[in-house]
Amino acid sequence: EAVKPSNFLRQIIESDLEKGTYATRRWAGSPGDAAHHAKGEPDPAKIRTRFPPEPNGYLHVGHAKSICINFGLARDYGGVCHLRFDDTNPEKEDTEYVNSIIDAVKWLGFDWAQLGQAPGSAAPYQASDYFDFMYRAAEHLIEAGHAYVDEQTPEEMRVNRGDFGKPGVNSPFRARTPAENLARFREMRDGKLADGAAVLRAKIDMASPNINMRDPAIYRIRRATHHNTGDAWCIYPMYTFAHPIEDALEQITHSICTLEFEDQRPFYDWLMDRLCEGGLLAAPAPKQYEFARLNLTYVITSKRKLAQLVNEGKVNGWDDPRMPTIVGLRRRGYTPAAIQMFAERIGVTKSDSWIDYSTLEGCLREDLEAKAHRGMAVLDPVKLVLTNWDEVMGPGHLEPCQLPALPHPPEGTESPIRHFTIGKEVWIEREDFAEVPPKGYKRLYPPRPGADGQMLPGNTVRLKGGYVIECTGCTKDADGTITEVLATVVPDTKSGTPGADSVKVKAAITWVGVADGVNAEVRMYDRLFSDAHPDAGGKNFLESLNPNSLKVVTAIVEPSLANAKPDDKFQFERHGYFVADRIDHKAEKPVFNLAVGLKDSWGK
Ligand code: ATP
Ligand code: MG
Ligand code: MG
Repeated sequence: EAVKPSNFLRQIIESDLEKGTYATRRWAGSPGDAAHHAKGEPDPAKIRTRFPPEPNGYLHVGHAKSICINFGLARDYGGVCHLRFDDTNPEKEDTEYVNSIIDAVKWLGFDWAQLGQAPGSAAPYQASDYFDFMYRAAEHLIEAGHAYVDEQTPEEMRVNRGDFGKPGVNSPFRARTPAENLARFREMRDGKLADGAAVLRAKIDMASPNINMRDPAIYRIRRATHHNTGDAWCIYPMYTFAHPIEDALEQITHSICTLEFEDQRPFYDWLMDRLCEGGLLAAPAPKQYEFARLNLTYVITSKRKLAQLVNEGKVNGWDDPRMPTIVGLRRRGYTPAAIQMFAERIGVTKSDSWIDYSTLEGCLREDLEAKAHRGMAVLDPVKLVLTNWDEVMGPGHLEPCQLPALPHPPEGTESPIRHFTIGKEVWIEREDFAEVPPKGYKRLYPPRPGADGQMLPGNTVRLKGGYVIECTGCTKDADGTITEVLATVVPDTKSGTPGADSVKVKAAITWVGVADGVNAEVRMYDRLFSDAHPDAGGKNFLESLNPNSLKVVTAIVEPSLANAKPDDKFQFERHGYFVADRIDHKAEKPVFNLAVGLKDSWGK
């Protein structure tokens, strides 16, 4: 296996393993047991990471980066990764999203663990299972003088928080005694106060240069039914308070998140220190590390904006093959291997940058190049008639032909063989015939007068895997549209026979027999946006939707392609990589999606 390039996260983990930072951890019982850190056997996992999505939408390619980082590091360093639904916000969760996230992580090729349960058998964690512990932790902070109930209006709180370079102002409620605070907090919990009437705040430093340390709110009143805890609570922990506790209870060692959480790290550490001091948690506490989120050109990675595309009917659902969601990429023909390759290739850094969309496409091409069976499909068909066929081959004759499905089968294996037939009529691409050939054109064109007035013969080409043919002309309808291309077959030139090389040709063209070709719906996808940065700088991303992001054509495909199963991937020779649509493809009505073209042609 190739040596993985190092990055700052790998260096941190390697240094922790060397120093034995987490070697003393024990585990027993389940999270929520206040002292569970200190008991039991040594933790068999060398490191614990987690992927903590909020189940409020479908995962996208940015989440895929985070999944590959967290599960990948755990795998590479003898650790495990937890899947945790960060469901502390009562209003937004939905089981549809929960299930889609589980599917996405599994499909990408990863398995999560729990304390005491190995990957493969463990359930995901739910942050809402820790509400009792979080409440106890809040009471502990109050009793230790580290938290107070603030009853300023939200507006007063906002103004008094100050701004960058301008210190905040202490709340008049800040000097309440622990006993007063505890009583008031319990009234909050018991539903005696209205929504928004009070919050519990950590008591830290209203003059801190870091606004997040100016007595952040840690509990708020919110009368909302929670999908897990129902109406048990009318107060809910804030994310900044809940998240470090979730990590600690699951004995996470390296809590890896995106850069926007950098300013929250001092509070993360402050909270861990207070709860370890108070004996609610056992050291060593987890540490937070931040990496740059994925920004991909031509792509939007905000769940809210992706939801808007779905809700306004700009795309056909979350799994539309143009969507950067994991379900969308999957339906488009992306493979887990290609997405993992992409995550490796873009690496992990601490500074924001844009990754070119073609990097993602390149990874898919690279993965499919060796694996995808080849096949011929004619996307813009015109009929070619071999006018001498009946005479030289026999009336109505169909000649069997074959080609390997894989040009480079894996070492020690042989390629499967595709079978198809040629007869008097075949479909070719309309662009493979030119009545008046442009300079350098090597495909079919009819006889034409030479410089001295002599007629020059029509061009000869090979029908790939079939015969050499010579173009003799075409027929047209009243509008001048070409209805048929005419040619003659050169006998004894069939591919794979001794005469195959007797006539030299400059081009081989793709084709499908009229007798055994099958009609297929082919969905030709292009980028969803025509602007590389559709939502940068406050732009309205809906204005740069690419009007040509989907063109549906009726193609004719060779029989081996018509036998595809949903999700099978192919290279349609010369056109690109295609996938049999997971949802709509049926044996009696084949449907293929363009996954990626053969080479990067964007902007050329
Ligand atoms: P959104 O802001 O679109 O709602 P989110 O970041 O809030 O998305 P979460 O469900 O909270 O979504 O994300 C789960 C994890 O995925 C987080 O750790 C988050 O940092 C990470 N993540 C989200 N978007 C990206 C991205 N573009 N690149 C890398 N990681 C990401
Ligand atoms: Mg979030
Ligand atoms: Mg976000």
